[in-house]
Amino acid sequence: MKNIASHISLQPFNSFGVDVLARYFVSAGSLEDIQEILEWNKIHQQRLLVLGGGSNVLFTHDYDGLVLQNTLKGISKIKEDDNYVYIKAMAGENWHSFVQYCVANQYQGIENLSLIPGNVGASPMQNIGAYGVEIKDVFDSLDALHLPDGEMVSFTHAQCKFGYRESIFKQSLRNQFLIISVTYKLRKQPKFTVSYGNIEQALEQMGVKELSIETIANAVIQIRQSKLPDPNKIGNAGSFFKNPVIHQTFYEALQKLYPGIPGFPGNDKFMTKVPAAWLIEQTGWKGYRKGDAGCYPLQPLVLVNYGKATGTDIYALSSEIIESVQEKFGIILEREVNIY
Ligand SMILES: Cc1cc2nc3c(=O)[nH]c(=O)nc-3n(C[C@H](O)[C@H](O)[C@H](O)COP(=O)(O)OP(=O)(O)OC[C@H]3O[C@@H](n4cnc5c(N)ncnc54)[C@H](O)[C@@H]3O)c2cc1C
Repeated sequence: MKNIASHISLQPFNSFGVDVLARYFVSAGSLEDIQEILEWNKIHQQRLLVLGGGSNVLFTHDYDGLVLQNTLKGISKIKEDDNYVYIKAMAGENWHSFVQYCVANQYQGIENLSLIPGNVGASPMQNIGAYGVEIKDVFDSLDALHLPDGEMVSFTHAQCKFGYRESIFKQSLRNQFLIISVTYKLRKQPKFTVSYGNIEQALEQMGVKELSIETIANAVIQIRQSKLPDPNKIGNAGSFFKNPVIHQTFYEALQKLYPGIPGFPGNDKFMTKVPAAWLIEQTGWKGYRKGDAGCYPLQPLVLVNYGKATGTDIYALSSEIIESVQEKFGIILEREVNIY
């Protein structure tokens, strides 16, 4: 039987570095391990939390249940045709290592998602995205265990119901499935996306004359390293809030009051996406610090733990930010990070 430990600190397992205890903790590196743990839990009936790299969670108290860290490994090519290669990666593979594997093999489509922390298994959870690319653009299918009965189920693209930092696994199927592997459909003939963020500028500074998968990955890495805090040095979970998507007429009304308010096309022509970072900066939170909880000076969308902040400190700061943005702009920010 797998060694299920009790009263384990989760500090090394969450990128905020918050020190809470899990009542039970276990690491599972094979399907057999997972099946055994689920059998154990049929008897012990613990609330179950599946953890990948812990880079999108905030623990606000001890976890009274079983934390299962998924460490399943393996990458394989399952098929290819003239245009695409289908690569299946096990959920416990580190996301950035997987991106680098694809870059090295000239499989194109996820180079813009370089350096996002965490594991493959969580990538469809919130349809991870950066620099104009989201997982949904390259997703083929996934296999997941249905936790209540241990059945393996395959999900197609349509069944995942991807949205902006959303999927069915964060909504109606929350806590119902343990993602085992994800298959990505990557291009053999590149179709690069470079018009987002500062990619073009970074490529120019790097003296790049011809676009390639490697140069784009390197540009993204360079940009991210220059503005995002390294979780190994300063605890954080990346963007704490989603960028709000508001109705176009509301956006136009706000524009009259705040002519500088930025806006980008939302899901359809009636909606506009407003950068949460701008709203947070305008309400005076950028660089704010209370104890060890703070709003990162270079990117106010990122809340940080400078050392000994608790999950409650960080959560309280996020609530204050939500309140003041709502008061000033009438927009309610939504947390992107999963709160436990
Ligand atoms: C510095 C920094 C930068 C970031 N930048 C970005 C960015 O640009 N874009 C972006 O989208 N995100 C970003 N993030 C957020 C985060 O890296 C991603 O959301 C990532 O996919 C989380 O992976 P994880 O393995 O750490 O998930 P975890 O934090 O371990 O888990 C996140 C959620 O998924 C669930 N989960 C995890 N694995 C599984 C599984 N196998 N089966 C079922 N449920 C599972 C967990 O229960 C939890 O609810 C950033 C984070 C940091 C710290």
